[in-house]
Amino acid sequence: MALIVQKYGGTSVGTVEKIKAVATKVIDSYKKGDRMVVVLSAMAGKTDGLIKLARQVASEPDPREMDVLLATGEQESVALFSMAVKDMGFEAQSMLGFQIAIHTDHIFGRAKINQVETDRILKALDEKKIVAIAGFQGLDEKGDITTLGRGGSDTTAVAIAAAVKADRCEIFKDDVEGIYTTNPDVCPKAKKMDTISYEEMLEMASLGAKVLEIRAVEFAMKYNVPVYVRSTFSDKRGTMVVAETKDMEKVLVSGVAYSKNESRVTIRKVPDRPGIASGIFQPVFESGIVVDMIVQNTSEDGSTDITFTVPKPDFYRTMKLVSQVAQDIGAEKVLGDEDIAKVSIVGVGMRTHAGVANRMFAALAAENINIMMISTSEIKISVVIEAKYLELAVRTLHKTFGLDDETKGE
Ligand code: ADP
Ligand code: ASP
Ligand code: MG
Repeated sequence: MALIVQKYGGTSVGTVEKIKAVATKVIDSYKKGDRMVVVLSAMAGKTDGLIKLARQVASEPDPREMDVLLATGEQESVALFSMAVKDMGFEAQSMLGFQIAIHTDHIFGRAKINQVETDRILKALDEKKIVAIAGFQGLDEKGDITTLGRGGSDTTAVAIAAAVKADRCEIFKDDVEGIYTTNPDVCPKAKKMDTISYEEMLEMASLGAKVLEIRAVEFAMKYNVPVYVRSTFSDKRGTMVVAETKDMEKVLVSGVAYSKNESRVTIRKVPDRPGIASGIFQPVFESGIVVDMIVQNTSEDGSTDITFTVPKPDFYRTMKLVSQVAQDIGAEKVLGDEDIAKVSIVGVGMRTHAGVANRMFAALAAENINIMMISTSEIKISVVIEAKYLELAVRTLHKTFGLDDETKGE
């Protein structure tokens, strides 16, 4: 008898018919003797709709009230799911973040889970109930409702799985059957992987692959929770996210990830002296803006150019902050560019193979794609390019590193 945590995303519970189909599926597993905990997202479009509503009553909605509002999306789906299960003749109980309790810090809108209490969940399981948990929400020290940030239900599921020591955490997808070598929407020849290591998945997620939330993978890695990503409405084999094995190193590149969410800021002719970088970045960091890549050139005339990337939603704020500093330190000017994209190749095999970067750069050059910035780590290489070349770059790299599924057409 296994203890299984399953998570269904917004599209999987997007209509009442789909909620009933998920209920049937969960009951099937339950009937086989497994103990079932189900984490649900809000019905597709719900969270976006709530955000729109909030913006109609306030230009900058109060963060505490925003979380009270957003948490209702998942409250709705767990209640409907539990009703459906009961209507089919089985016992179910919905649980919200604060009822469990899922303890988080107090940062509304992007709270981090600190600890999950298990008493109520385990008691309900002992009572032979199917437990339906609202994803994406928690409770801070003051007793206020928090939410974990968009896509946060994946994190809820893995955190719950770690806390109750589940045998595995299954993440169900409506539109893909597992984790692919790259987003199949962009590259029709993307291949479904049987397994991927936590570390590779963490890089893929951090570099833009939306299939699993970054923090969910971090939790899984920390607590060694096997995560199985699979399809909601088919029984086809999905992808296991597991600890690295020796076999994985044989593959040079496991996947290609991309992000359109980047923007680039360049400060021209910055005086080249100690303390300048810190002076430039301090106000940016202090405003909570996450800087990704940074490149600084050396120059012979005592000045240098500094280029860095920030998430697109932070672009204008960053330009404003940096323009002020540039003036103060006597830099020539600040340039900004939002028409960029980041493409990355990921693979634990890179650790033990040389020449991967060269192959990547040559493949992009052959397609006349200009590389603006480069960053590397042990298991990934990222480049910034013009946004319009993004899809071409993803497909080119996918092919170059032997990832194309030749059984599939263009
Ligand atoms: P859910 O609502 O179930 O959380 P998401 O929309 O967050 O689902 O995630 C699934 C989407 O992630 C897919 O539609 C797919 O386009 C995208 N995706 C991006 N990269 C990958 C990848 N490497 N493998 C599978 N899907 C990917
Ligand atoms: N409902 C939330 C969102 O749309 C959380 C989630 O679906 O995981 O982002
Ligand atoms: Mg998701």
